[in-house]
Amino acid sequence: MTVGSIPYGGQVERVGDLEVVPVFDGYAYDEPIHMYGVLPENASRRGERAEDWVEYSEYLGDDGRIEHAYGGFLIRTAGHFVLIDTGVGPTQIGPYGPYGHVIKGGEMPTRLRELGVDGAEITDVLLSHLHPDHYGWAVANQAGLFPNATFRCHSLDWDHYMVRPGGPFREMWEPLLNLEERLRTWDHDGPILPGIDAQLAPGHTPGSTIFVISSGMSRCVVVGDVVHCPIELLEDEWITLGDVDPKLANRTKAALARELEANGAPVAGPHFPGLRFGRLLPGEGRRRWVV
Ligand SMILES: [Zn+2]
Repeated sequence: MTVGSIPYGGQVERVGDLEVVPVFDGYAYDEPIHMYGVLPENASRRGERAEDWVEYSEYLGDDGRIEHAYGGFLIRTAGHFVLIDTGVGPTQIGPYGPYGHVIKGGEMPTRLRELGVDGAEITDVLLSHLHPDHYGWAVANQAGLFPNATFRCHSLDWDHYMVRPGGPFREMWEPLLNLEERLRTWDHDGPILPGIDAQLAPGHTPGSTIFVISSGMSRCVVVGDVVHCPIELLEDEWITLGDVDPKLANRTKAALARELEANGAPVAGPHFPGLRFGRLLPGEGRRRWVV
């Protein structure tokens, strides 16, 4: 891979003998008070008022907006060339939700080319969960960007969205039916591919999965949408829009934050600024996020 031209401040994360390379599909700058908040029964309303964000101004642009990347991570591991999450795809998602949110991708083919990667080389596409801003390029043009890949997701998500579908926006998931013959599901925690373990982290979706990438004594964690931005790891009570089970998502995220604080493993997610890895460090009374 030619990793000298990664945009948006993206950087390669080295894990023992492995490299985790960010691949962008798009970028967004969103109003934070419209993306984050607390459970409805939580009277504090923290995250939903502009003053709650003052202490996090370093994460915000001059216009007060917060960065959200859309994309995934490439890993070349023994006999496999893996992409975790595929971004939004060539079409726009939205407007949806109470604020008419719109998500645009479209960059992944260009970004792969810049890295010197041909989509035909990808052997495995791991989907952290079955939301359209993660399976976009997996379903675009009959999976044409990844003609030789096996697609993989947790069976609980396939069951929720495809076997027993319900709820609004049903048509969003229909393109996944074209993947069925090339899709394999996993149903328990543990190794999926050499150096990559799955860990169920439900709530955002029933089968939301964290990936632990390890080589020798080193490891890093890719969190899917269990966490959308690093600030959520500092605020145990915060949630984001779009959780299937917000209470469970909140408990899962808080438990993950405690785990990451204890083990200090580098962590990133497909919406983190610059798709950059950072660490959660214990602080005096409050954790700190360090990139
Ligand atoms: Zn997402």
